[in-house]
Amino acid sequence: MKIKMPRGTSDIIFEKAAKKQYIERLAIDLFEQFGYRPIVTPTFEHTELFQRGIGESTDIVRKEMYTFEDKGGRSLTLRPEGTAPVVRAYLEHGLASKSLPAKLYYCGQMFRYERPQAGRYREFWQLGIEVLGSQDALVDVEVILLLIRFLEKIGLKDLELHLNSMGCLVCRKSFGEALRKYLKDKMELLCIDCKKRVNSNPLRVFDCKNKKCQTIMKKAPLISDFWCESCRGHFETVKSILDDVGISYILNPALVRGFDYYTKTTFEVRTPYLGAQNALGGGGRYDGLVEELGGSPTPAIGWAIGTERVIMATEELNINLPLSSNTDVFVATIDGAREEGFKVLNFLRETGVSADMDYGNRSLKGQMKLANKLRASYVIILGPDELKKGICLIRNMNTGDQSEMQTSKISRWAKGEFKSGKVDFNG
Ligand SMILES: [Zn+2]
Ligand SMILES: [Zn+2]
Repeated sequence: MKIKMPRGTSDIIFEKAAKKQYIERLAIDLFEQFGYRPIVTPTFEHTELFQRGIGESTDIVRKEMYTFEDKGGRSLTLRPEGTAPVVRAYLEHGLASKSLPAKLYYCGQMFRYERPQAGRYREFWQLGIEVLGSQDALVDVEVILLLIRFLEKIGLKDLELHLNSMGCLVCRKSFGEALRKYLKDKMELLCIDCKKRVNSNPLRVFDCKNKKCQTIMKKAPLISDFWCESCRGHFETVKSILDDVGISYILNPALVRGFDYYTKTTFEVRTPYLGAQNALGGGGRYDGLVEELGGSPTPAIGWAIGTERVIMATEELNINLPLSSNTDVFVATIDGAREEGFKVLNFLRETGVSADMDYGNRSLKGQMKLANKLRASYVIILGPDELKKGICLIRNMNTGDQSEMQTSKISRWAKGEFKSGKVDFNG
């Protein structure tokens, strides 16, 4: 019996792998340009980190975590999200004593035991950023801008920025009470999950996908009526800076995030073209989390986006990512010129050109086919006749032109031809 990959996982190969890499490189370049630095945290953490950092009442902690006991009897959990581990690392390595804010980005796998569906996996990839140690409203806008720039660079258009403020712990408390009061006499109409949420975390009823619950929430009290002066002021500043930099937004008072630690600015970027699954990525402030995890009160903000989600959006919207060909030059050989061809191949690679050759004993015709498949820009052909004369043939695969060249001049030719980086015939 053949062993197959576990349900909810995926092998990322062929074009999807190229797309993933393209998206990650683009994101990382942009993160670096905005002054963010990389952080890599472990794939598993102590279970308690997520119980405290995400909240016991959330679906993630209640139902979706990959929790296991290791051979030493510790309860460990494959990370279901990236923020709690970053905050843990921030505290563990005393980043607060370095220059603040700490601006960090990550790229890695997350794990959630969910019902697998299109574009949703149990092991999935996320890109994300976190800024710790600043309550400046400019940071809120920078973080939002970074998400929008990233999606625009991918080629996604007409993005909608949905914006809300979750208030702080003070205003959230009175809002929670008002919400509980509103929901108390509608208990019968709520789904089983929401019945429990009314007491544990009534804000999460906003997240419920159940139609009946959604209808009830349409008339629910709004957080905006409970903002304290400080939260209202912060939100006004964020909005006016967004206006200044020309980013339009949709005020969405129902945008309430499922995590306990979110405060103040919360946002989501959507595309109008993907129907129900139109959310691409989102995030917000979590000024309460560092303290929750044992640090001193520290304002923080961040976002995360699913890489597979972005790939799926580009496919559904027919966006062609400029995946450049991997091979600049393919070296083809005939009758006993293979070793000489291998030397040429290595010359080329030393000059920084991406080059390849056949290792499958193909005929010249087969090698040309392979060169086509690899989308090589040039093929260098070497046979016994050419070897005797100290030359090789160079074929431009784009135009079909073929010419002779002295083998000793290949390096110089390659340097000249590819000096401005990769030749991109797809763009
Ligand atoms: Zn407040
Ligand atoms: Zn519900």
